[in-house]
Amino acid sequence: MKRPLLERIFDIRRKTVCDVCMNEIPEPDGFLLTTRQVVSAPAYWDYVLSHQLSYIEDLPNSDSARGVLIEKQANQSNPWIVCGKCAQMLGVDLRETGEYAKQWWKSGKRFAPPGSGPVPLSAVRAYRVSEQIDFSGTPRPSQVHVYGRGFFPSDEQVRQAIDIGLVEPHREILTHDLFCGIPIQVDLKPADTREIFIGSIERVKNQHPKDFVLDSMWSEPETLNDMVVLAIWEGAAAEVAKQLFAKHP
Ligand SMILES: [Zn+2]
Repeated sequence: MKRPLLERIFDIRRKTVCDVCMNEIPEPDGFLLTTRQVVSAPAYWDYVLSHQLSYIEDLPNSDSARGVLIEKQANQSNPWIVCGKCAQMLGVDLRETGEYAKQWWKSGKRFAPPGSGPVPLSAVRAYRVSEQIDFSGTPRPSQVHVYGRGFFPSDEQVRQAIDIGLVEPHREILTHDLFCGIPIQVDLKPADTREIFIGSIERVKNQHPKDFVLDSMWSEPETLNDMVVLAIWEGAAAEVAKQLFAKHP
């Protein structure tokens, strides 16, 4: 006989599953990881973006959807319980994280390992750094914002704004690859005139007094649609970027 629905739902809720692959983890198994350990592993993003979250690639605004998702994962305050296969894939210390998992079970899932909590976007490494990027010595920006004056830029317009507006004028320092996989925030700024539009961008820049912000305005040739791209480097990367851009103005 089939069990009543509520009972079955309750049963599912009681089970603990791997926060990466969703396979069941029985007590006292598993490995307990911090948000930093998970989101800084390109293998994690390779996995989720080709499994549970593969639908994102088909969305009309996949670049910005990916950005929202990356931000959400980096903001996770709770530790992550993962299975043995996923812990190995993420390359963490199995002995230490396995020990943390045992404490977590014992504490009624309340224990949090050292270093737990949300991390800044600069801690995210969604894509493997290619040799070309290592060689160029340019750090990746941690955030990219693209604003349209009175319209919401499409993925194609975002790509052009980055390539033509940012990469081409700074060929010695920037490559297209540097911007792959970075959270991109796409937004519309309602503005009747260019002056108002530029004013609203200045306000965004003022929110990053300690960061290095590179901005560029780009207008689409056919439609004359105005867009602004902001690339933001934070922390140590901001210092390196500042020096690079001072050398190649
Ligand atoms: Zn797993």
